[in-house]
Amino acid sequence: LPEAPLTYLDHAATSPLRPEAAAAMAAARAGPLGNPTGSHPAAQRARRILEEARDEVAGLLDRAPSDIVFTSGGTESDNLAVAGTVRTALARSDAAVGVVSSAVEHPAVREACRAAARDDRVTWVETPVDGAGVVDIGALADGLGTSTVLVAVMLANNETGTVQPLEKIVDSVRARCDAAVLTDAVQAAPFLPLEMTSAADMVSLSAHKVGGPVGVGVLAVSASVELTPVLWGGGQERTRRSGTQDVVGAAGMAAALGAACVEREAAAARVGALRDRLAHSLLRALPTAVRTVPAGTEVLPGHLHLCLPGVDREELLVVLAERGVCASGGSSCASGALEPSHVLASMGVEETRARGAVRFSLGPATVAGDVERAAALVVEAVASLRRDL
Ligand code: PLP
Repeated sequence: LPEAPLTYLDHAATSPLRPEAAAAMAAARAGPLGNPTGSHPAAQRARRILEEARDEVAGLLDRAPSDIVFTSGGTESDNLAVAGTVRTALARSDAAVGVVSSAVEHPAVREACRAAARDDRVTWVETPVDGAGVVDIGALADGLGTSTVLVAVMLANNETGTVQPLEKIVDSVRARCDAAVLTDAVQAAPFLPLEMTSAADMVSLSAHKVGGPVGVGVLAVSASVELTPVLWGGGQERTRRSGTQDVVGAAGMAAALGAACVEREAAAARVGALRDRLAHSLLRALPTAVRTVPAGTEVLPGHLHLCLPGVDREELLVVLAERGVCASGGSSCASGALEPSHVLASMGVEETRARGAVRFSLGPATVAGDVERAAALVVEAVASLRRDL
């Protein structure tokens, strides 16, 4: 590790554990914890903690506790939503099954759709986005048909932070077909009101993006959606997700999400102001740098996605890492991968520009000093690396 203090601007990849989550997890661990399916006192205690966590998450999402499925994270939630919906439709009849997603979905949705489409009866269509990464609702509507069983559009993008007009999208879907709508709200949860997901039939969340533990997630599923499980076994989570539940993790997730909701508005304003300050400093000092998402687009307050012409992203990230600045090339899950981002490609960002694309993502723990330090070090690093192409 570098000797300098770390300047952590990679909250979209994972965020530090909130004290509220740590306290809830410690409290859960402080007594006997059995398997929540059992009947003795230790099992009863575990069940009570799990159900309290479920009630809290359900309340925050304004859904019934029975809608809440605890999973191992955002990836599993997305996979369960996609595979579970498609498998149910395939089992019902021999008819063709359609899946529509936005072109900028996280790989947890995208690859689950690709896997589902390996069945000859399943057709998967990716809906284009504009230069800001916003879904083209007209094109989405054109892709819908009576065979469409699932539409997946994330609430906010993990790379660019672009927010989708989810309510309008859901209205457009409802006007044309009976498809279930999945929204991946993993990135949006720290900053956007969860009411924004209320029109969707399924909502994916991940604890570690809101200051909870890694390895816990939620899929909220409306009663109208019949999911075929991906994991088979003891029938936990009303048969939708077998496996002994992570009671401590669920308690941590509920506490983190609760704390995020309480401070959401204030955090969004404060973090947004810091992000704007970082953008201002970098764009002033680096005249060829451009914000990837055009002005006027609704973007999450913690995200700053820049294209730095003449700079190789991987080299820049290494230099920054040596100086204690933690940033990312975009998709955290593909970090280190040299493949071009499908998100930037679908926004029409040329490959040469995409090569110099970096994501700085701020979180509730970011302070003004982080932004000042990062700005100075990024400018220095870019000057040392820039090659005029
Ligand atoms: N969906 C989005 C939008 C994400 O950003 C991520 C993680 O980066 C995931 C899903 C996967 O979540 P998890 O890391 O909990 O599997």
